[in-house]
Amino acid sequence: MSPGSPASADSDSKRRRALPIPRATLGMQTFVPDSSVVSDTVPSVNFGDRAKGRLPDMIVLHYTGMPDVEGALARLCTAGTDVSAHYVVLEDGRIVQCVQEAKRAWHAGVASWAGEDDINSCSIGIEIVNRGHDWGYPDFPSRQIAAVIALCRGIILRRDIPAHRIVGHSDVAPARKKDPGEKFPWRSLANSGVGHWVEPAPIVRGDVLKMGSEGDNVLALQESLAQYGYGIKATGKFDTPTMEVITAFQRHFRPERVDGIADQSTLKTLQALRESLTPATTTAATS
Ligand SMILES: [Zn+2]
Repeated sequence: MSPGSPASADSDSKRRRALPIPRATLGMQTFVPDSSVVSDTVPSVNFGDRAKGRLPDMIVLHYTGMPDVEGALARLCTAGTDVSAHYVVLEDGRIVQCVQEAKRAWHAGVASWAGEDDINSCSIGIEIVNRGHDWGYPDFPSRQIAAVIALCRGIILRRDIPAHRIVGHSDVAPARKKDPGEKFPWRSLANSGVGHWVEPAPIVRGDVLKMGSEGDNVLALQESLAQYGYGIKATGKFDTPTMEVITAFQRHFRPERVDGIADQSTLKTLQALRESLTPATTTAATS
């Protein structure tokens, strides 16, 4: 860029800067993208077949959690890492496809949702470039979120994905994962027809369930979380796994306070979500 170039040309060239394609993938055979909003394919070697020909009816959203996009793409695409995702959404809104949707990408790891634990076989994994909690956790740019929405809307239409089966990695692996985290704008996605959302109940004083609580109220909470989809055992004891699931629930559905304590706002938000999940609304969301 010469010193005399206009500012607009400068920012344009930054937006269109070359994709950092991992060297090891350069000779690989590419494929036709599944989505019209994909700008590049960077084929990953890390994938397999979906178990028993399972068709994906779920979307799992992640953040990359790495300092830069170069490192993230290299990790998702090269041999030996055993991780991948179908799509990567860059901060500038470009969308890269790494694994064909028909194949099983390796993004969820040990995970569970709605009684299934081979989440990689039943889902499409989308990695959103963001440094994550360990590296300062920046806000998600609106251009990037618009790209995530466009990508998801296409997948929802093509594959008839129900709204309540669009979740975060932390929802399916609450003991291990925080992504995409409490800054991820699930409300904006829902306003654009992506995912299940109700306005969180306001935070007020009142009785809470927390570490050490026991009894029927805890049992009912655990059953309610399990019926929504979370992998949780109904023991009647508010134990560490329960606290982890409440934390994951809050990151997604009540992000104003993420503390693992089931306060009245958390309980009411969960109840409202479950009540809004009638057969009529799930049909409407997928039609
Ligand atoms: Zn993840």
